[in-house]
Formats: sequence, structure tokens, C-alpha cells
Amino acid sequence: MSVSGKVYLVGAGPGDPGLITLRGVECLKKADLVFYDYLVNTAILEYAPRAEKVCYRQRGEGRKVSQDEINARLVEAARQGKTVVRLKGGDPDVFGHSAEETTALTAAGIPYEIVPGVTAALAAAGYVEIPVTHGERASAVALVTGQQRPDKSDPLDYAVLADFPGTLVFYMGVLSAGRWSKALMERGKSAATPVCIVRRCTWPDQEIVRCTLGTVAQGTEERRLRPPAVIVVGEVVNLAPVKAWFAARPLAGQTVLAIRPRLESDALSDQLRELGANVIEHPVIRISDPADWRPVDAALERLDEFDWIVFHSANGVRYFISRLVTIGGDLRRLGMVNLAAIGPATAEELLRHNLRADVVPPEFCAESLAETLAGEASGKKFLLIRA
Ligand code: SAH
Repeated sequence: MSVSGKVYLVGAGPGDPGLITLRGVECLKKADLVFYDYLVNTAILEYAPRAEKVCYRQRGEGRKVSQDEINARLVEAARQGKTVVRLKGGDPDVFGHSAEETTALTAAGIPYEIVPGVTAALAAAGYVEIPVTHGERASAVALVTGQQRPDKSDPLDYAVLADFPGTLVFYMGVLSAGRWSKALMERGKSAATPVCIVRRCTWPDQEIVRCTLGTVAQGTEERRLRPPAVIVVGEVVNLAPVKAWFAARPLAGQTVLAIRPRLESDALSDQLRELGANVIEHPVIRISDPADWRPVDAALERLDEFDWIVFHSANGVRYFISRLVTIGGDLRRLGMVNLAAIGPATAEELLRHNLRADVVPPEFCAESLAETLAGEASGKKFLLIRA
């Protein structure tokens, strides 16, 4: 009997990479193959470093892949014994075609698991602070498609929707806003009903347009709004603050280019993101081994001759210690030598290796370090480790 792989249908969430579930990340970590949607934030793919990644586009460049073809590829990959993640924007079961895929997998006898995700409507609730249900104003919420069927046999009963005792959230409804808003108003829903369009919710360029049912079509057209957006219709829209927490963060709307090497910029990028910035990491410096280790090795062989080792960077510390170990030494070789660090990050890196800097200058530059050590310098030997 051949052993088949397994398919995980995973919700990637609405965009913010932090909104995928822990289970979703576990699945990605063990994946051999990831088939992902155009809506998925590709930053999430970093959780699957060893997987082959294939994007199924439903618009934009590239070939549109039919649902049948996707089903067939899932089955084929699982039959080859692969662990496959089908990564979908938002939640796989909200306008996500998951049933078509699980039906095909069941027919082929392939095991699967569904990992829910944060759907766009609920992301808008959180990031725009629209409480989609509310004690007094909305006892229910309906997720509605705004997509017009090509055959025009629209299954939606707008009379029922117009009377719905709660909030309506339209998916795929930007380009069809004229049609569905008119249909609702013709069935008696007030043109004054508050509406909020939330575009690219949870992404750094999230956009919000407030209007009413009577003006939503005009609003989407005038601003030439493009998908993806959810459109929230109902009294609860008025409860949202003018600036929700997401837009009120101090660096919201700002883009920062982080050019330091990845490892170093991580902490900085995290802090900037926490403050709301869109951080693009584009390291322009690459830290790598020197072309020739021989001069370094020669110095490492003579470590006991030095009185001081002066570290100019955290990378210097890392590479120095790793090289020391590579050539057969260890920290005992530093027994008698004094250590200086150019600044607190370098001193911290030393501490990570259980070494304490004897000196960190008051200002974190070479001049200040030289001044600090000047009194010590006479007749002493210094080894300078720079990166
Ligand atoms: N499974 C997805 C929905 C897929 S249908 C989910 O649960 O969210 C595609 C539609 O989802 C888009 O047209 C848009 O209406 C909505 N959508 C997806 N991501 C969105 C986002 N970040 N912001 C606003 N709407 C989004």
C-alpha cells in the first residue's frame, strides 16, 4: 500500500503576518509544498523555508488556475507522499472554496485538516473597531458575497437581507457596489444606513472610506477603489472611532527602509512595526567570512600576548568567537585578557557568550573608546576586532 501525504487547508488571515494561527505555522514548518492564494501576505511563507511555493493567481499577472486544476494538483502532490499546505487568505471556509477541495480530497482518499483563519470581516472589526455585533444595535452578522454571477441567477434574497436584524458585511463587493446597494434600497433598506469600506484591512496601507448605503457606489467609483475590500453595512459603523488603534499608532502610514543586515535590524524593525511603520527590510550590507582567515587565525594563535581585545561590533564578537572554536580553541583562551566593547549592543553580544566587557565608553564611537583606553595604553598590546 502506498502511503499518501496529507493536505492542510490553512487560513493565512487577512494580511498582517501576526494573524495566522499557531497551528497554521506548525503546518507550514513541516510542509513540502505550499499552494498559496494571491491574497496571502508572502511574509508568512518564511515559516516554510524548505517548502516549494506556488502561487495561484486569480487576477493580475500570470495564469489563472481553475478550481479543478487546483484540486487535481492537491491530489497529485499528496499521492506523491508530500505534506501539502493550501494557504488561503482569511479563513478557508469563508468564500474560500474549501468544500470543493475537501470533496476532491475525500474522493481520492487523501487525509486533510482544516485550520481556520481570521476572516476579513472580523479583521475589519478588530482593526477599524467596528463591533459587528452589539448588545443594542446588532444581534447578528451576515457575511454576504457581492459577486455578480455571470448567469445573473443571483441566489441572494435582497428582501431578506434588507430586513436582516444586524450587520451585513459584503465580500467581493467593491466593483459591484452599485448593484447590491440598489437592490437593498429597492427592498426598503434606508439609504442613510451607515457604511464603511475597509480596503486591504490589517496591511500597512489599509484604507477606510465612510459613507452611506445611498453613496457607497459613488464612493467606490470616484475613488477608483480596487479589491480587496470588505464593506460593512449597519448602525454599528457609527460606533467606530474616527481613528481606531491601528491608524492611531505614531508611525502609521510611514514606510521605513531598514538597510542593516537582517540579524541586526530585527529588533529595530520589530520596534518600528510595533509603532505602526511599514518596514521594508532591504539589507545593503552583507556580513560574511573574510576572504582570507590567515591573519585572523595568526592573531588567535597568539591571544595570550594581548592585554586587551577591543570589539567594534556585535558581528565582530560573533565571528571572532566562532572562529576561535572552529580552529580548536574555546573561551579559556580569553582567560587573562581585558575586553572592551564599543557600545552596549556589542557588550550584550559578549554577554550572550558569557563574557563581560571590562570597558564600554560613554559615547559609542571609536574616538570615545580610544580616549577611555588611553590611560591604559602605554606599553600594552591591543587586538582590534572590527567587522
Ligand atoms: N477567505 C477570505 C475571503 C476570500 S474572498 C476571508 O476569509 O477573508 C476575497 C474577498 O475577501 C475580497 O474581495 C475582499 O472582499 C475580502 N478580503 C480578503 N482580504 C481582505 C483584506 N485584507 N481587507 C479587506 N478585504 C479583504
